[in-house]
Amino acid sequence: MFEFKPCAAGCGNGAITGSNLCGLHCVDRDTESRRLAMYITERKELHNLCVSHLIFKNQDFSSREYYGCNFMESIFISCSFKKSRMRMTFFDMSIFNDCDFSNCDTQFLSFGGASLQSCAFQDSELVHLNFCGAMISNCEFSHSNLYNSRFNSTQINNTQIDDCNIKKVFFINSIMKNVSLKYSNTAEAVFEYENN
Ligand SMILES: [Zn+2]
Repeated sequence: MFEFKPCAAGCGNGAITGSNLCGLHCVDRDTESRRLAMYITERKELHNLCVSHLIFKNQDFSSREYYGCNFMESIFISCSFKKSRMRMTFFDMSIFNDCDFSNCDTQFLSFGGASLQSCAFQDSELVHLNFCGAMISNCEFSHSNLYNSRFNSTQINNTQIDDCNIKKVFFINSIMKNVSLKYSNTAEAVFEYENN
């Protein structure tokens, strides 16, 4: 499943694919980011990729398959993952600005503690996803299946979650401002724990 090769500097982070060091301890983070961006774009299927602590700008990572990949604590600006198939892939504590996850087929992704601004998640399968502790603003989730996903302690601002399946979606302790849930099955979502 999830392979883990530790950074040779002993910091506890995972070493980047093709290196013995993590993104923090590599000699040149820009060079490693470019190398890994090329590694992804040259492949249609990615397994057990580790690209944490890197920076990606204007990359087309769309129409690919991702299994067990680690994109944690990275920065993504204007990157496209659209039309991707993803399973068990981790984006925790990463920063996303103007990124596209529309028309995706995803299960078991984690965006825990991530920051997502102006990102598109519409027309997608977003099943068993974790957004706990994330900050989401100006994002679009409409016409998606969010079944059993988690938005606990999530800040959500100026975001559309219209016409979505939100059955068993948890929004416990989330702070929502100007969030639209029009035509979504809100009665089947969980907004607070029942006192019993
Ligand atoms: Zn390291």
